[in-house]
Amino acid sequence: MKLLLVEDETRLARVIARGLTEEGHTVDACERGTDAIDQGLALDYDVAILDWSLPDADGLTVLRTWRARGCTMPVLMLTARSSVPERIAGLRAGADDYLGKPFDFEELLARLEALHRRSTTIGALRAGDVELDANRRVLARSGAEVQLTAREFALMRLLFERLGDVCTRTELLSGVWGTAFDGEANVVDVYIGYLRKKLLELQTDRLTIATVRGIGFRLEARA
Ligand code: CA
Repeated sequence: MKLLLVEDETRLARVIARGLTEEGHTVDACERGTDAIDQGLALDYDVAILDWSLPDADGLTVLRTWRARGCTMPVLMLTARSSVPERIAGLRAGADDYLGKPFDFEELLARLEALHRRSTTIGALRAGDVELDANRRVLARSGAEVQLTAREFALMRLLFERLGDVCTRTELLSGVWGTAFDGEANVVDVYIGYLRKKLLELQTDRLTIATVRGIGFRLEARA
């Protein structure tokens, strides 16, 4: 999963980010509400973890702003405030789940996974003669299937969602690996190579990932 973590308690934020990274997830972190608003609107996240009390805008304001501007990602609110009226205020503002502090990391993880599952049960995306099954992370074509890793799936989903459009390397990199990624930029090319191999395994001649020289890649479907 690609996660946005909004938490101003530096130590807690570090512990959460480390734990989630160890589980194979990508985490972008912000400490301020105003940054969180911009970050959440600028990039696609699978789930956001949003602390209620922040130094500038509070979590509730961040959440209301996201929702008012059409940002629909699932949001898990973190808070020391566990009174019923406050939970209700959070849920009314568009929170999808709630976790009171202090919490157990395993519970946080389980809730994030559940939120992500709920949001991805959109079923299958289709391009050309190939289906991308979001629930099982497989590519399928006339009975044949290939399994994708989490990263391959995230990259393929972006390409499916932008079928026919050029996706720049930067867009793919920030969409799949996060803005904090500081490894080699050619990781995108490497993963595009893996995906091409998997499309080959399916023997489709109606779906290809084209290279757009100097820019990026485009998923192309033929009728
Ligand atoms: Ca806080």
